[in-house]
Amino acid sequence: MKTIDQIKFSGKKALVRVDFNVPLDKDYNITDDNRMTAALPTINKILKDGGAVILMSHLGRPKGGPEEQFSLKHIVPHLSDLLGQQVQFANDCIGAEAVDKAKALGNGEVLLLENLRFYKEEEKGDKDFAEKLSKLGDIYVNDAFGTAHRAHASTAVIAQFFPNAKHFGYLMAGELANAEKILNGAAKPFTAIMGGSKVSDKIELIEKLLDKVDNLIIGGGMAYTFAKADGGTIGTSLVEADKLDLALSLVKKAKEKGVNLLLPVDNVIADAFSNDAKTDVAKTGKIPDNWMGLDIGPETVKLFSKVVEESKTILWNGPMGVFEMEKFLVGTKAIADAVAKATDNGAFSLIGGGDSAAAVAKFGMTDDVSYVSTGGGALLEYMEGKELPGVKAIND
Ligand code: AMP
Repeated sequence: MKTIDQIKFSGKKALVRVDFNVPLDKDYNITDDNRMTAALPTINKILKDGGAVILMSHLGRPKGGPEEQFSLKHIVPHLSDLLGQQVQFANDCIGAEAVDKAKALGNGEVLLLENLRFYKEEEKGDKDFAEKLSKLGDIYVNDAFGTAHRAHASTAVIAQFFPNAKHFGYLMAGELANAEKILNGAAKPFTAIMGGSKVSDKIELIEKLLDKVDNLIIGGGMAYTFAKADGGTIGTSLVEADKLDLALSLVKKAKEKGVNLLLPVDNVIADAFSNDAKTDVAKTGKIPDNWMGLDIGPETVKLFSKVVEESKTILWNGPMGVFEMEKFLVGTKAIADAVAKATDNGAFSLIGGGDSAAAVAKFGMTDDVSYVSTGGGALLEYMEGKELPGVKAIND
């Protein structure tokens, strides 16, 4: 793997694609800086070598032109704090200002470019746009795992302009190495925990995992599609009515492959999608009309926890309930505790990005698991066996 370990950046300008797509509140405070801190080892290595760092990223989903709420200038103060030096900022990612500031950048200095997605060309993977970006640096480093599944100008197309100077940053390399540990050579028993809202989003991964895992745990909103498919009543719980056959075929495949498929046996139900709702516990398949399942129930917690605690490899993607609300986070927290316990006993645990990473962070348990991925969609696609454009562009 072409990591930056062997590269000496002294006197060079490194153009680094990072994923600083961090959540901001209405006052532009960063509410979770995990993606920024995750890129620090790469940035610091380049600076320590005596190189200059030009950072490029996207933020949010602008409609193809500048929008104040998506300006990367909002993150400059925090990035400067993290790096212990004032980070410079260019109000555009291409054009005269970016070129001049990149040219004037001294060794040991950092320049952040404005949001790449202020240009439609970024997501379109436009070659001319990529070439303009490429002119800003001598070496290209991709450390944006969170966007590695996109063939965008800055994540993939740009690499062709650095045929002999394109590398993975430490975050990318670490993400890939940890995903590999799960895909190839996972210690047994191997348990995958799937949750979140939709089974349709994760179907390809689930099918792939059926060839690898000993236990497949399904919780969260997606479990109600299985309960309904089994002929149960689910009240107003989340369901993908067109995926009932799919759920049944997954159950069948799991049986054929000898995978222990665990579904919730009971549920915390609520009379409204609200933290103030009236709650109760109902057996799976027996949720009354007008009630909805928003968390796994106490019997399920016991059942799932036991299997998780006895595992040697754990992949977790998706919460067990609506963990954003205090009343419905108990199941997700209990599973996080079980994962932490297994990890403490020597298991390797990988938390797939997105909401499972947010849940683990909310519980202050990021250090109690083996690895928290910064990539939601990217990790899923990699695990599904797809070649990520951002990875391929460096490897080619
Ligand atoms: P996903 O993005 O598919 O991983 O889904 C994550 C979301 O699923 C989180 O925002 C959870 O609040 C939500 N979720 C988990 N369990 C349930 C449930 N039982 N009903 C509704 N939403 C849920």
